[in-house]
Amino acid sequence: MKIAVLGAGVIGVTTAQALDAAGHEVVVVDRQTAAAEETSFANGGQISAAHTVPWAAPHMPFQAFKWMFQADAPLLIKPLRWDPALWRWGLRFLANCSTEREAQNFEKALRVAKYSRAVLQSLRQRHALQYDQSSGGILYIYRDQTALLKSQEMAAKLADFGLPQTILDRDGLIAEEPALAGSQEPLVGGLLSPDDETGDAHSFTLALQKISEESRVTFQFGTTAKALTTRNREITGIATDKGTIQADAYVVCLASETPRLLKPLGLNVPIYPAKGYSMTTAIQSDEAAPSRSITDEGKFVVVTRIGNSLRAAGTAELAGWDRTLDPKRLAPIVRATQSLFPDAGDYSQIQPWCGLRPATPDSVPIIGGTPYGNLFLNTGHGTLGWTMACGSAQALADLMSGRTPEIDLDGLGLSRFSS
Ligand SMILES: Cc1cc2nc3c(=O)[nH]c(=O)nc-3n(C[C@H](O)[C@H](O)[C@H](O)COP(=O)(O)OP(=O)(O)OC[C@H]3O[C@@H](n4cnc5c(N)ncnc54)[C@H](O)[C@@H]3O)c2cc1C
Repeated sequence: MKIAVLGAGVIGVTTAQALDAAGHEVVVVDRQTAAAEETSFANGGQISAAHTVPWAAPHMPFQAFKWMFQADAPLLIKPLRWDPALWRWGLRFLANCSTEREAQNFEKALRVAKYSRAVLQSLRQRHALQYDQSSGGILYIYRDQTALLKSQEMAAKLADFGLPQTILDRDGLIAEEPALAGSQEPLVGGLLSPDDETGDAHSFTLALQKISEESRVTFQFGTTAKALTTRNREITGIATDKGTIQADAYVVCLASETPRLLKPLGLNVPIYPAKGYSMTTAIQSDEAAPSRSITDEGKFVVVTRIGNSLRAAGTAELAGWDRTLDPKRLAPIVRATQSLFPDAGDYSQIQPWCGLRPATPDSVPIIGGTPYGNLFLNTGHGTLGWTMACGSAQALADLMSGRTPEIDLDGLGLSRFSS
């Protein structure tokens, strides 16, 4: 079958590779001049199955309200903007804040994330992929005992799902990550998630693109999809600024741009951009920089060593599709990293970046078919697209190839939003 994949981020490229491996002829279309130039460019680098905690949770409405009055809040919502998409998304988000929904969404996201890690490991065995990969686990750090104790409830829950965590006091934390000894923060302890991994999503996507091209996948860059043409509930082509592209089936991996392309087809896809920021700086002192990736649970910042660089990422801003980089939103991330690892690098010399996380109201990606027989979605991976990419791609490729996916796709499709 000839399949057109729209979008060459980490989701589109993993999807193309999995479809190619299943024997299909694949063309990937992207508006940028290269793969992974948008949200997959400089993210936090964590493959963190143990961090699949949905944003929508019982405490969140109150917490988000408090954050509205805090300029450096980790989640900033601007509800007074006239943006019907934000309001619609927000209502769905609130509907997911019950204890029951939180538990269901957690299970669904974890299902994809755990499977994804296994698929990534198997891909690594088959292909020489260079992407500054590290399997050293991820450390979650805490400043107060109450938060640390509460995290142990989550650790027990994750252990039930086959994701063991080690609870650490302050000495244990520093033994696991000696670079934290230089921290200026009053750390009390942490959790080690030993099976989680890290790596550069951008390098990975480029490496997988190369492997795919050496097989039979073609990439058509610098091409913007303007519309999908239809006949009798089937897609007949993609109208682009470079002409029409036709295939037997189509997969949309357009992240935050998905709703705009699909709305004219009568498909309402509840994805809203959650803008996040990162900084990358060269490591100047090896001992002062962490060897393990850190998730600072108090400041909502992740810090990851990517080769000879230190990457820190965080914040989420629900304020539309604007990609402008606001230094005021990046500053707390830089400050938090400098306070944790003061001598790791020169924090006046950073590469700033921001990207739009494609957030669904339930923090679960959208993987599966649509009412159009030959149109499929692999999108809406929010905060964990790198973590979930390989598994989402493999499951969708299996579904499209008439094979039973290794994970249950129940509750992951677009139809869950129709009620
Ligand atoms: C600050 C930050 C930190 C993060 N940290 C982590 C992390 O540590 N771990 C993790 O798992 N995830 C993380 N994420 C989330 C992760 O980066 C995303 O979920 C993931 O990159 C989404 O991949 P994607 O392929 O769906 O989107 P993208 O990479 O944005 O790909 C979509 C592609 O579609 C193309 N496109 C859009 N519209 C059109 C059109 N009309 N025509 C043609 N092409 C089009 C774009 O050019 C783009 O290449 C983070 C995100 C941010 C912002």
